[in-house]
Amino acid sequence: MTEQSPLFDTYARAPIAFDHGEGSWLVDTRGERYLDFGGGIAVSALGHAHPHLVETLREQAGKLWHTSNLYQVPGQEKLARRLVEATFADKVFFTNSGAEAMECAIKTARRYHFANGHPERFRIITFQGAFHGRTLATIAAGGQPKYIEGFGPKVEGFDQVPFDDLDALKAAITDETAAIVIEPVQGEGGIRPVPIRFLRDLRALCDEKGLLLVFDEIQCGMGRTGKLFAYEWAGVEPDIMAVAKAIGGGFPMGACLATEEAAKGMVPGVHGTTYGGNPLAMAVGNAVLDVMLEDGFLEAVRDKALRFKQGLASIVDRYPDVLEEIRGEGLMLGLKCVVPNTTLVKELYANHMLTVPAGDNVVRILPPLTATDEEIAIALEDIEKAAESLSGGDRA
Ligand SMILES: *Cc1c(COP(=O)(O)O)cnc(C)c1O
Repeated sequence: MTEQSPLFDTYARAPIAFDHGEGSWLVDTRGERYLDFGGGIAVSALGHAHPHLVETLREQAGKLWHTSNLYQVPGQEKLARRLVEATFADKVFFTNSGAEAMECAIKTARRYHFANGHPERFRIITFQGAFHGRTLATIAAGGQPKYIEGFGPKVEGFDQVPFDDLDALKAAITDETAAIVIEPVQGEGGIRPVPIRFLRDLRALCDEKGLLLVFDEIQCGMGRTGKLFAYEWAGVEPDIMAVAKAIGGGFPMGACLATEEAAKGMVPGVHGTTYGGNPLAMAVGNAVLDVMLEDGFLEAVRDKALRFKQGLASIVDRYPDVLEEIRGEGLMLGLKCVVPNTTLVKELYANHMLTVPAGDNVVRILPPLTATDEEIAIALEDIEKAAESLSGGDRA
């Protein structure tokens, strides 16, 4: 009999435990090295134990951990100012996670219409394949039955339409609609970039109907696609945006960004958090931006991504019985599989490479943005080897 775990049984974990990491590599408790091209689900954007992040956290840890939002937190002012300067936004609210950033985005959108004298406008339209988090409101927003079932009445006010379907979207808008929420590149849904034309249509539609456009860039933001935020590729700005994952480089944090107009209902007392924006998180968040905003950093991400994608496309061409398609933007890549995606993920474990499964039978490849060309070459070899051993029906 295997020993009973004292943990909730909510995760189907791989039988690997890591001891430490350096750059793109993780070392497990037996001393085996793994190439980490999953990044703890797009979080470790600067790799593991980045010297600037480690030094920053160490220094802050010796000074001050926590004060709460009863007082001013200079690190929040600084990080918010830098995010505002780099984006569409005028205002920032810091959280501990992505789901909380989305909760803030949803509350901000509803309060905007409340402040305008339209409390009846609270409904939010989302898209099939979406993922917005695991709180009660964000599972309702994501709309996936397997996450909603058994958790009581679904939070009211979320309407879902098919991906990239403008007619269905238009038909779903009513006098009660407050906002449209979308990931510019769906992550959990299977690395599905929203067509630029569709994002432009969304902006025009929101302007026409007085709706707020909310982007969930929790996974696709913070340099992942080769721009600081994915919306920059489309030249379409949201009114509100949720950010998390890579913003802390592995330190738990998130942020909700908004224009001054969109944030006008978020007045003193209506929202809050004990930990959100605490000095440790703010120190690390600022350190992450120090690196990402360096001259040439994002350009290097785009260059590496292009070469990586070409290499992957060539593997897809040569193993059509294993792989169907390469999709994604920048270093947010997805291999649509013919074999079950979890089979490929396991085969890659055996080759000591880490990736992440996603919806639509896709394997996500989310390397650190700091990955070197040599590491990308190793990844291509690992993936080729895995495709080769799964090819030819010998494992079908
Ligand atoms: C991960 C993710 C979330 C939820 O973030 P948590 O930090 O797990 O709460 C929300 N939206 C998207 C697009 C994500 O990828």
